[in-house]
Amino acid sequence: MPKTTPIPADIQKRCDFGFAADTEAVDEQVHDLKGNEAADINNGGMESQVRWLHDTAGMTWGEIRELLDIKEQTNQTKEEEFASFSTVCPYCKKDGRLEVVHFSATADIPLTKDGFATTDCSFFDTTDEVVHCKACGKEFPLSEVTL
Ligand SMILES: [Zn+2]
Repeated sequence: MPKTTPIPADIQKRCDFGFAADTEAVDEQVHDLKGNEAADINNGGMESQVRWLHDTAGMTWGEIRELLDIKEQTNQTKEEEFASFSTVCPYCKKDGRLEVVHFSATADIPLTKDGFATTDCSFFDTTDEVVHCKACGKEFPLSEVTL
C-alpha cells in the first residue's frame, strides 16, 4: 500500500487513540492476510518464493545466494558460460582430442625480409577451418563443433 494514500479521519482517530480490542482485531487481520499471502507464495514453488524475496522483500541476489548456500562460480563454469565450441568429437565422442589443422586467414601481418610471422592471433580472421580428431582421425569443418 503506498504511504501517500490518506487514511480517512475516523480511522486515523482510532489509530491515534485506539482501544485494546482494535489492536487485537487488526493484529489478527494482518496476520491472516499475510499468512495467506505467505501460503500462496510458498505454494508457488521455489521460483515464486525467490522472486518474492528479491522483488517484494528486497533481499539482494547475494543474500539469496547466501540463504541457498550457493558458492561463487568456479572458473570451470565461467569457461562453460562463454564456450563457443564443443571439444567432443562428433564422430567418436572422445573429448579433448580435437585440433584445428587448416584454415584460410585474412591477416594483417607485416612482411619482413626474412618472412612473416606473428604470435598474435588477433591478426587473424579465419574461415574454412578444418578440425582433425586425434582419436579417430576424422576431419570435418569447425562448424560441426560450433555451439
Ligand atoms: Zn573422433
